[in-house]
Amino acid sequence: MCCEMVKDMLEKFIEGELEESLREDIEKHILECNSCKNELLLARKVPCLVSSMMTPKVPNDIINNVLEQINKPSKRIFSYKHLLGVSLSKKNLFAVAIPIVIAISHTLGRSF
Ligand SMILES: [Zn+2]
Repeated sequence: MCCEMVKDMLEKFIEGELEESLREDIEKHILECNSCKNELLLARKVPCLVSSMMTPKVPNDIINNVLEQINKPSKRIFSYKHLLGVSLSKKNLFAVAIPIVIAISHTLGRSF
């Protein structure tokens, strides 16, 4: 039996789910193979390590905070006021927009 076959059946070996003949073959292999012996020792330790890990405590109010954030109405992310930092009247907005339109039309006019 090769190492790869042993490692594939290691979980079933540990759980005692293998036929007696397969189990004996694996036991013989493990007695002679350090790599598979280490794999078996590690595989037996993993459940103990996992169960010994502490479960992190979640603060009591975190669920309420998350639900509150989800249910909040979304804020408008972009506006020209946000961009310019000032409030523009329609007249001032026009004064800003006209030079931009002229500049764009100049640029397009050159490319044609
Ligand atoms: Zn081996």
